[in-house]
Amino acid sequence: MSTIEVKNLTKSFNGNTVLHGVDLTVEKGEVVAIIGPSGSGKTTLLRSINLLEEPDGGTIQVGDVTIHGDQPLGRQKAAIRKLRQEVGFVFQNFNLFPHRTVLENIIEGPVVVKGEKRDVVIARARELLAKVGLKGKEDAFPKRLSGGQQQRVAIARALAMQPEVILFDEPTSALDPELVGEVLSTIRALAEENRTMVIVTHEMSFARDVANRAIFMDEGRIVEQGAAKELFANPQHPRTKLFLEKFL
Ligand code: ADP
Repeated sequence: MSTIEVKNLTKSFNGNTVLHGVDLTVEKGEVVAIIGPSGSGKTTLLRSINLLEEPDGGTIQVGDVTIHGDQPLGRQKAAIRKLRQEVGFVFQNFNLFPHRTVLENIIEGPVVVKGEKRDVVIARARELLAKVGLKGKEDAFPKRLSGGQQQRVAIARALAMQPEVILFDEPTSALDPELVGEVLSTIRALAEENRTMVIVTHEMSFARDVANRAIFMDEGRIVEQGAAKELFANPQHPRTKLFLEKFL
């Protein structure tokens, strides 16, 4: 069974259709990069997968949970809760709790949402902090950290939930250029562990080198997808070609 299976997903904002029946399958262990021009629907697609956006139609399946976009989400609350435990989300702007320490930010989900034992989660959080290169920052507050460090805390927080898949929404676009590399290396290390990840990104060389598969979206549709290296080296669709030419 695929980790994620999105079928015929539709979404509009105020009568403006931004997803025109998108199908997306992500297999276990796959790293998928979603690229495309601004406004093409990449973020809306990603946010819809864990119901940060409410779809108008279609289905979203993660593991054994299926959400039906054409039915009220209010009646699918239990399924959504279950789905969100399996789907980590890393935001462009980190979204850390500002009045909680780094450690408290990381343990909140596993302790409160999953009901795991606090000491077990704290031990895991310390390991994860070391993994993202932030050993010793347990008691720091987010605002004392650089953007790159905050984003690495956010990645540790997502990992602490032990999700099946992690979604990254333009994880480096809010960072000063000199801080982009440290966050990309952290994500690259996760890719090397064969974690299942979907990454919306404008970092084209990162997408080419790290993703197994790249998906090019334009105007609310997947226009082309394939093995990442192949798609970048040899785009087939004229719109993909035009888009990638700008990055050469
Ligand atoms: P991308 O991530 O490819 O830049 P988005 O998914 O952010 O594209 O946006 C797709 C379209 O949906 C854009 O036209 C954007 O203005 C519109 N949109 C996104 N979110 C909202 C919202 N909350 N309300 C109204 N329009 C939105």
